[in-house]
Amino acid sequence: MKHDFARKRERMVETQIEARGVKDDKVLEAMRKVPRHLFVPENMKLYAYRDEPLVIGEGQTISQPYIVAYMTEALQLKGHERILEVGTGSGYQAAVLAEIIQEVFSVELLESLSLKAQDTLKRLGYKNIHFRIGDGTLGWKERAPYDAIMVTAAPAKVPKALQEQLTIGGKMIIPVGAAFQELVLLTREKRKYKKKILLPVRFVPLISTH
Ligand code: SAH
Repeated sequence: MKHDFARKRERMVETQIEARGVKDDKVLEAMRKVPRHLFVPENMKLYAYRDEPLVIGEGQTISQPYIVAYMTEALQLKGHERILEVGTGSGYQAAVLAEIIQEVFSVELLESLSLKAQDTLKRLGYKNIHFRIGDGTLGWKERAPYDAIMVTAAPAKVPKALQEQLTIGGKMIIPVGAAFQELVLLTREKRKYKKKILLPVRFVPLISTH
């Protein structure tokens, strides 16, 4: 049986993402291009373009497509940026970022997920994504600073190490909270961080090993 994934993806962008107000052409183009069905388990492929998060194993999830697009747009990317992503998961968000910007540095705590994502992204030909297995609460200091940081699991509060790894003028998007979470956009201004609360969300918790 053949499935028209390209058509489903086009509809996803139209009805879930453009319809909700995402306007950045670079983001829309990336969402149209990345084959989301290749990032989910075999038995979930048919659901890959639905308006919901999906399980990817190890108790983890790949975010709803709209949230991926919304968080990407919020970083106001131009194309030259180096980005740190915390929570590689399936690798889908990393692929969306890699379509838009120069280099993605993605940290994942769980080895099995990271290796699977690395395999998927390599098969798709991405050469501008770098992987690390470890606790992303600490960022990836050796490759810092980053023009943008995207965190795709929720800590109770913004990890200090991540703030410090932003460039001046750099932006971080991160879900914060426990039972109740909100998506926060931080902009670094020398020593101060400007904070903007965007929307209520529900992410898996960011696991701290420290
Ligand atoms: N961005 C992913 C979705 C991530 S779900 C995608 O596009 O598929 C959140 C991920 O964060 C999970 O894979 C989880 O294992 C990972 N995670 C949780 N705590 C972490 C930590 N301290 N450091 C790095 N990754 C972590």
